[in-house]
Amino acid sequence: MEQALLLNASYEPLKVVDWQKAVTLWCQGKVEVISVSFKLPSVIRLLRFVKIKRRFDYVPFSRANIYARDNYTCQYCSESMPSGELTFDHVVPVAQGGRKDWENIVTCCISCNRKKGGRTPAEARMKLLRVPRRPDSAPAVRITIGLRNAPETWRDYLYWNLELDES
Ligand SMILES: [Zn+2]
Repeated sequence: MEQALLLNASYEPLKVVDWQKAVTLWCQGKVEVISVSFKLPSVIRLLRFVKIKRRFDYVPFSRANIYARDNYTCQYCSESMPSGELTFDHVVPVAQGGRKDWENIVTCCISCNRKKGGRTPAEARMKLLRVPRRPDSAPAVRITIGLRNAPETWRDYLYWNLELDES
């Protein structure tokens, strides 16, 4: 348990931070520690409310939402599969300046991901099923990512729409 769930002052989850960051925020007097595991902060809450910029149709950029946007379908071989067999692909590899955003990350099966390696689709001679875009509205799937694997101490707070950091 080396990560902590950061809550807004309203108890809405904002993101997951590593424990070093959690301790730093606490030392700076910015958060209170709500729960502790192995003597490390597990859930922390901002003391000052942070206003989240959220468009009406804002869709959090998260693993669950990328899979949902792509319908759990590999964007190269068109096979649909359970999330455990899927991964991300940076269409333009990060090493070549590819960004981590809706337009450059697609759902990809593990074997296509391996096949493509650190190349662009053109270099790898692989064709994208469709051009990735930011979704207009929230996918049908409500985000429950991490709920199953989340530590017990986080669960009370996870009913909010949780946006996960990609790490
Ligand atoms: Zn594939």
